[in-house]
Amino acid sequence: MENIVISKVCGLCAGCNFAILTATKNLQNHKKVTLFKEIVHNDNVNKMLKEKGVSIKDDLNQIKKDELIILRAHGEPPETYDYLKKNGIDFVDCTCINVKKIHEEIEKFSKDGYMVIIIGKYGKTSGIMHPEIAGSVGYSTTKPILVEDEDDLNKLNINLNKVYVTCQTTFNEAKADKILEKIKAFCEENNILCVINKSICNAQKQINIYSAKLAKTSDLMFVVGGKKSSNTIELFNNVSSYAPTIFLEDINDFKTELKKNNIKLSKDMKIGITAGASTMKSELEELKKLLENEIGEKYDD
Ligand code: SF4
Repeated sequence: MENIVISKVCGLCAGCNFAILTATKNLQNHKKVTLFKEIVHNDNVNKMLKEKGVSIKDDLNQIKKDELIILRAHGEPPETYDYLKKNGIDFVDCTCINVKKIHEEIEKFSKDGYMVIIIGKYGKTSGIMHPEIAGSVGYSTTKPILVEDEDDLNKLNINLNKVYVTCQTTFNEAKADKILEKIKAFCEENNILCVINKSICNAQKQINIYSAKLAKTSDLMFVVGGKKSSNTIELFNNVSSYAPTIFLEDINDFKTELKKNNIKLSKDMKIGITAGASTMKSELEELKKLLENEIGEKYDD
């Protein structure tokens, strides 16, 4: 059905895809493949991996020597590597190259005497620090300053004459821009050298650009993904400013969600489907089929 369109750019990014492929590929040669923490914030992806035989463990102390550990794309602090090496545990590091670059720069600049500022979701609103931030913090040789919103800048206490600023790769770009402007102005006023790495992920940006474009020409949008996923939440907020949007964690709930939102499908309705960087494209194809069937059955003349 031409009226139902999947965004040209959406779904699993290269970093998450690589981690998933690595986990499943290694099952061929290893009896026990274990993900250290969920690979992405998406229950369906994690369920699929478990069904294939991949275990997920959250605690390093529970890991046995005969397991092959897959470190996910979000990145891990140095202590995780130290623990695995010290205990002779095999691992494959799937930290995304974009996140690796952030770790390297944080380490380098902090060693060079820069105060590190990380813009990201450190848990101010959710109470839970985003795993990428938890990983990045560990690379600074001095305690970094964490900034989640502009209010955090009111208590900015920089006691060095140079700062290095970086961002969580999935942080909202518009919010990051406002925060960065203020940090720049603060540094100029106080004669502080300021090096900025606006490390927002390009994959994320493209998904948002293409999804917004689709939403502008759609009567209804579906955003598919985990409700704990930072990038999916950002995508939902973006897309819903252009068209009525339904956030679907499980595609099979689409009818319930339509009812909840008091939305009736119709044959002429233009429907867009998109997903953040932690959702498999196959789920979107499935949703498209479900919607086509529903409209075909109920609304065809
Ligand atoms: S969203 Fe971007 S930075 Fe994050 S894992 Fe994917 S490619 Fe890497």
